[in-house]
Amino acid sequence: MAPKRKRTSTLSAITDSGGHEPSPPLAVLPTGMALVSTPEEAGVLIRRSSTRRKKVVDYAEDKSQEDGALDGPLTELEEDELVDEEPAPKKKRRTRKKVVEPVIYDIPPVDTKETSFKGRLGYACLNTVLRAVKPDPVFCSRTLRIDTILKPDHGMDYCKELGRKNAEDLSRLIQWNEENSIRFLRVSSEMFPFASHQEYGYSLDYAEKELKAAGDLARKYGHRLTSHPGQFTQLGSPRDAVVTSAIRELEYHCQMFRLMGLDQDSIMIIHMGGVFGDKQATIERFKETYRTRLTDDIRARLVLENDEMCYNADDLLPVCEELNIPLVFDYHHNWIYPSVKPIPELIAQINAIWHRKGIKPKQHLSEPCPGAETVMEKRKHADRCKALPPDLPDDMDLMIEAKDKEQAVLHLYRIYDLHPVIHENLRPEKPSKPFPCACLDEDGLTTAPRRRKTKGKGKAAVDDGVADAVESGLVDEDVETPKTVQVMVSGGKSRPKSTSKARTSKKDQKKDGGPL
Ligand SMILES: [Zn+2]
Repeated sequence: MAPKRKRTSTLSAITDSGGHEPSPPLAVLPTGMALVSTPEEAGVLIRRSSTRRKKVVDYAEDKSQEDGALDGPLTELEEDELVDEEPAPKKKRRTRKKVVEPVIYDIPPVDTKETSFKGRLGYACLNTVLRAVKPDPVFCSRTLRIDTILKPDHGMDYCKELGRKNAEDLSRLIQWNEENSIRFLRVSSEMFPFASHQEYGYSLDYAEKELKAAGDLARKYGHRLTSHPGQFTQLGSPRDAVVTSAIRELEYHCQMFRLMGLDQDSIMIIHMGGVFGDKQATIERFKETYRTRLTDDIRARLVLENDEMCYNADDLLPVCEELNIPLVFDYHHNWIYPSVKPIPELIAQINAIWHRKGIKPKQHLSEPCPGAETVMEKRKHADRCKALPPDLPDDMDLMIEAKDKEQAVLHLYRIYDLHPVIHENLRPEKPSKPFPCACLDEDGLTTAPRRRKTKGKGKAAVDDGVADAVESGLVDEDVETPKTVQVMVSGGKSRPKSTSKARTSKKDQKKDGGPL
């Protein structure tokens, strides 16, 4: 290798333009000249020894570009221009202004169908059109980590300011919905980060103005707003910390609706949760908590939903009838874990409770992805729904739990000609990915890792609640799931122990006559 080094240093010396002490040219030139015969070869050797710096091509907008000087392919850099001297003072770079052209989407026609349905269709939490607005996206789930709260220049003021902005954006979302004939929305549980946290929790009174404005707008337009607290909200958990945390979460949702001035139709939907080895004992714990620990305000808004893993409509109806708790019937969940009773019979029984309590009935609709075969694949929600259920009552509210959010609602509007749509607000449907896909881990315990922000409400208890949620297998798409759940259930090799709990639990479910 020694000769090589010698050769390059020789050429460095030849090309050195200052600063270094050059070797005497006469002594080295013959050697160097003997080694290279073409400029290219010299270039190769020079590269080895020189401090290279790429020539910066400035694409700044200037006269020459306007004149079409860059019409050809962008200039391939004169790559290895040698610059050994001190760099010249940097030219001020100007960036080319992006010309934003309106995107024209190609929206294919839909196969039209007929329905007698006259209720409202809604979507959950996020509007994909408003979220994509630049530079100031409109959405209601700005959040942060506890680490950020602890930073001296952030603190709780910063945390609460995010909540205030979220609440402010809720009005813009409602306005957009009105303009697009959507009058039903699930409010994000993440609206006020850490508001129900044991240590960092806070009252929402400071955002009274923004919440009232959103509520006033919703009432003015006749929109229904509901919520679906996270799946760690398990009132039947055997762990007191989980139950306490769940109650705090429900109080937070209640305060939100109270400050918005919304009536009894603004309900909070939860699942029964895990089985914890004994379904009946869990139901009994739930009943006890419902009777003895919940405020009237919470009881007025709390409703249960059948899930696809542990508690179907048959399991929940007796509890709901006994405690006068309305039941949200989820068609997709019932398809995976069906009740014995036929749907029309169930719906009649379910609606009786809604009416008794003076609340407008509400149900959930989503469809599995095409090609789903295993239970876990079937749990994944498709981007859109292709049809309304045949047994759908004419008048009730139907939450469309599809990934394309408002687009899924507008899609159904077009299929059934329910409302006129604004063409510019339509987006094309993405082609569906076939199974098996990266959406499911080896146990199919979750869907694709979604870019979600940390939720972090009542962390310690939430972690327990999360474990319960994982144990119950209830980690689904439409409840905003704290990041911890994502990590725990999608963790691949570094999967924590709790997942093995989930496996055990599945066995328990089998024993319990569950769907697996
Ligand atoms: Zn649902």
